[in-house]
Amino acid sequence: MSKIQMKTPIVEMDGDEMTRILWQWIKDILLNPYVELKTEYYDLGLKEREKTKDKVTFDSAEATKKYGVAVKCATITPNAARMPEYNLSQMWKSPNGTIRAILDGTVFRTPILVKGVEPYIPTWTKPITIARHAYGDVYKNTEMRVAQGSKAELVVTDKNGNETRELIHDFSSSDGIIQGLHNLDKSISGFARACLNYGLDLNQDVWFATKDTISKKYDHRFKDIFQEIYDNEYKEKYEAAGIEYFYTLIDDAVARVIRSHGGYIWACKNYDGDVMSDMVSTAYGSLAMMTSVLVSPDGIYEYEAAHGTVQRHYYKHLKGEETSTNSVATIFAWSGALRKRGELDNIPELCSFADKLEKATINTIEDGVMTGDLYMISKLNNRKKVNSKEFLIEINNRLADMMK
Ligand code: NAP
Ligand code: MG
Repeated sequence: MSKIQMKTPIVEMDGDEMTRILWQWIKDILLNPYVELKTEYYDLGLKEREKTKDKVTFDSAEATKKYGVAVKCATITPNAARMPEYNLSQMWKSPNGTIRAILDGTVFRTPILVKGVEPYIPTWTKPITIARHAYGDVYKNTEMRVAQGSKAELVVTDKNGNETRELIHDFSSSDGIIQGLHNLDKSISGFARACLNYGLDLNQDVWFATKDTISKKYDHRFKDIFQEIYDNEYKEKYEAAGIEYFYTLIDDAVARVIRSHGGYIWACKNYDGDVMSDMVSTAYGSLAMMTSVLVSPDGIYEYEAAHGTVQRHYYKHLKGEETSTNSVATIFAWSGALRKRGELDNIPELCSFADKLEKATINTIEDGVMTGDLYMISKLNNRKKVNSKEFLIEINNRLADMMK
């Protein structure tokens, strides 16, 4: 059998701990036998970030801009405990944060559904993809405690020095608190375009919600920007694709999400996305079954698993003990990147390989062969727990049949 050939490289970002081990096994067992992988390799493992003073992270993001598609392994975001462990000269910033800032992207998280692992909400038969606006609001706030007897005002000084003032509150009867928030038209527009593009990519409706009835200027601006961009740039494409952009109030959206069957993209303001993504991912069953893709407004894609480096399993692995770590989200990061590369470069065999890889992975679990995390929550009767490597070999048994 001849291997599938690629044209343009995928930017490959290697990572840390247990996911780094899985990364190599996935390539050896599931990818290299079928695809002549063409990647531009960047090692974002913490050792290499320390060695290059984090330059490698910036270089990998620039390469992603150049080639348009990346796949990333989970990486350690250093905390105090990692400083002596890796002998770090600095507490390097989260690579995901650095890459997101350079690509100005939006993160979309989608659960992978398999039979036997039922969502806590039984009507959710299709995945709900959450997109979180990753700029501003309460995450870039200024806040103060205010003593009784004070008066708090909002003051904006324009470029000519003219002031506009609004009373926030006269704290005559009690001590209190205040908070200043902001967002940028440019950032909201980028977010709106990333979400509306991704809707076209997945051929799914896009929902967006704010509290515009209460926040008549702030939240209303979000609503207006989304609507203007939709009307001017997307309406015709959405109608042709038979999908829709749907706006409602955030509390109404939450109620509708619970009653829905899934199968849409839910665009969330920063705080809503923070809270709702944890709710939605938990309700679908397992963090290890959640994929994540960073999409920039100009159509650059970086695929990864939503979970971290699974440190506890890695320490077991280092001691020579058997692990049963779930590689599904990392496999889907690869299949997502390969499919996108295939679409952009017009290589149908590569897209078809990505489909088969995902199908083989899901079939393995639905046949009852799974890692420990799923074994604990699956309702299948004849299920069997396998170790990290056996799981990949089982997937390949099925994939090899499909590739014949
Ligand atoms: P984590 O790696 O996601 O793991 C948390 C726990 O969830 C694990 O201990 C494990 O539970 C379970 N789990 C997660 N993924 C799993 C998988 N694939 N298979 C089986 N079980 C899985 O989060 P963390 O322990 O908080 O963080 C570890 C490191 O990852 C940190 O250094 C953090 O900075 C980094 N991190 C990176 C990213 C990223 O690169 N995108 C995201 C998050 C965290 P049990 O131990 O109970 O089996
Ligand atoms: Mg959260």
